[in-house]
Amino acid sequence: MRDLYADVIVDISHEKVDHPFTYRVPEALADTIRVGSPVLVPFGRGNNERKAYVTGLSVTPPMDPSRIKEITGIPDRDLPAEAVLVQLAAWMKHTYGSTMIAALKTVLPASRTVRVRTRKEEQAEPAAPAAPLSLSDEQEAAASGILADFDAGIRKTYLLLGITGSGKTEVYIRCIKEMIARGKQAIVLIPEIALSWQTLNRFTSHFGDRVAVMHSMLSKGERFEHFDKARRGEIDVIIGPRSALFTPFPNPGLIIIDEEHEGSYKSETMPKYHARETAEELARLVPGGASVILGSATPSMEAMDRVQRGEYGFYRLTKRLTGGTLPGVEIVDLREELRSGNRTPFSRSLTKGIEERLGRGEQVMLFINRRGMAGFVSCRSCGHVFKCPHCDVSLSAHTGGRLVCHYCGHEEEQPALCPKCGSKYVSSFRAGTEAIEEKIRRMYPAARVLRMDADTTRTKGSYDRILSAFAKREADILVGTQMIVKGHDFPGVTLVGILAADLSLNTGDYRAAERTWQLIVQAAGRAGRGEAPGHVVIQTYQPEHYAVRLAATQDIDAFCKEEMTYRRLLHYPPASHLLAVQIYAKQAPSGEAYAAELRTLFDGALQDRNGDCTVIGPAPAAIGRIADVYRFAIYLKCADTELLASLKDLAEERINEDRAAGRAGDVLLQFDLDPLRGF
Ligand code: ADP
Ligand code: ZN
Ligand code: ZN
Repeated sequence: MRDLYADVIVDISHEKVDHPFTYRVPEALADTIRVGSPVLVPFGRGNNERKAYVTGLSVTPPMDPSRIKEITGIPDRDLPAEAVLVQLAAWMKHTYGSTMIAALKTVLPASRTVRVRTRKEEQAEPAAPAAPLSLSDEQEAAASGILADFDAGIRKTYLLLGITGSGKTEVYIRCIKEMIARGKQAIVLIPEIALSWQTLNRFTSHFGDRVAVMHSMLSKGERFEHFDKARRGEIDVIIGPRSALFTPFPNPGLIIIDEEHEGSYKSETMPKYHARETAEELARLVPGGASVILGSATPSMEAMDRVQRGEYGFYRLTKRLTGGTLPGVEIVDLREELRSGNRTPFSRSLTKGIEERLGRGEQVMLFINRRGMAGFVSCRSCGHVFKCPHCDVSLSAHTGGRLVCHYCGHEEEQPALCPKCGSKYVSSFRAGTEAIEEKIRRMYPAARVLRMDADTTRTKGSYDRILSAFAKREADILVGTQMIVKGHDFPGVTLVGILAADLSLNTGDYRAAERTWQLIVQAAGRAGRGEAPGHVVIQTYQPEHYAVRLAATQDIDAFCKEEMTYRRLLHYPPASHLLAVQIYAKQAPSGEAYAAELRTLFDGALQDRNGDCTVIGPAPAAIGRIADVYRFAIYLKCADTELLASLKDLAEERINEDRAAGRAGDVLLQFDLDPLRGF
């Protein structure tokens, strides 16, 4: 039998995880030890016995085998939370592609710092304890169904489908309470943007100081403190974005992902994991298993597909519990508007609607679908477009006459004359939030207007400030991007205008229709939350498109059916899987040549697996250059994720070999499984 060697990291909460150490696996333990196993090793000069975790196994020793010490045993305690997280990291590395160190750094809190006051402790007094609500029949069916499964030993994922205000959060709270009663803990993931004080106070009013909140404004020390409390059993519930998934609870029984369709659940750095899939893997790994609840009004195609296959449990909440009826929806064809001489960004119907609302003292929300809406600057005489000198994108006009690149931050003055033809008709095509706000102010000087976008929410607390000002009716009109679609309830809003509903249809990726549909449904859902009935005006150039049409009728099933037909036809996720192999290089030719070599490598590996996997590319990425780095992509389409993982490993091995031999130049590889964004 060949010797087996284990890479281990020692005592992860205290040491840096950068340096794994290699130990020999004694023959008696060869069958027991896996990646993630806790082991005991002699460490340091004194060979003191320390606890460590196995992060990799291999039959080739990295150095002279006689110098390698041996693992002394396995600690006899239960599987601790860290071991589960190390196993999860190994799964993430395998599934999404990254180094083990990068995966470990994603799942483990790596630094211990001084104790600081946590946000929770600062906030300990607000919240008065909430009396439990008696659940509606639909809520009761969902909560008791999920809990009955749990008690019967069934662990699975459930989709809770319901519009905002239909009582999903109340179902979560009931399920969490029941889990705590069973000695379990709960992880609640919420998109960062929806982490408003409203939501948080609701949870603190139920769970008091047994709940902790994670958010990106926390320092490393605060984050660690939360994790430490979880480990010590001092809290039962954690609420936070994606990374809260890695809370080292001793006994998690429930993972909730609210707004599961949100793009922020996918990591943009390696490993590019999706919180939904990772939560499901974590639920499988934890001792005794955990249940997963996904909540959404506009579920992802992934979730709907699993429901239709019968893999997910499914509960629907069909009624709004706080009054208010579903709004009336009207689709306006912008081509018609132009034909009848209306050149403003507001259709006649929307203008009339705004005027009526202002007259009655009701509120209006104007939603601008900003994706794909470049504020680019061009010459009206010769058509010259101002581009970033470092990236393949056009520059955007900003206040103060500056041109800015949104990808690398490059800035320059907007010239008065066109550098190409000398014409003075240089202007920006601006249809973003700022321009709309300006137009609205000019049209209705008496109206109080608020704007919410990336620019106005840069500082801490500004997001909450704008929303609460609007909720308190300190403004009549709120102009904003996707951000205004979520969060607070605005009973005063009786009109929602969606200015360019179909712009996000033209982003060129396979999720464009899904995203557009979600945005329209979510935006429309903001109208009519109070006593007065709501109205929604959807302005579009493609009124016949199914994403627009079926968002207007709020027919989820019909949309999913159409969309799945398209995904199946073109073998896009979730009908199949798509692995983007992303190649970065400082020189275009070296990137291109390396990409071509990888293509040959994939073709070779797939020779006798004809048809199992389609290889597309290499081709320059949609944005071919960012910050002077050239980008190329190869796409692998395949139903079998294991085959994709093996192709990914092959590419990784190749570049590691080439790098060791000095052949890889400055080429970098990244992988994105089932990407959510274009590259
Ligand atoms: P969602 O999470 O789907 O947006 P919530 O759980 O926040 O919905 O519920 C929306 C509103 O309805 C909240 O104000 C909540 O307090 C109220 N609500 C929820 N369930 C009930 C219930 N069973 N009885 C009375 N009010 C409820
Ligand atoms: Zn010109
Ligand atoms: Zn740039």
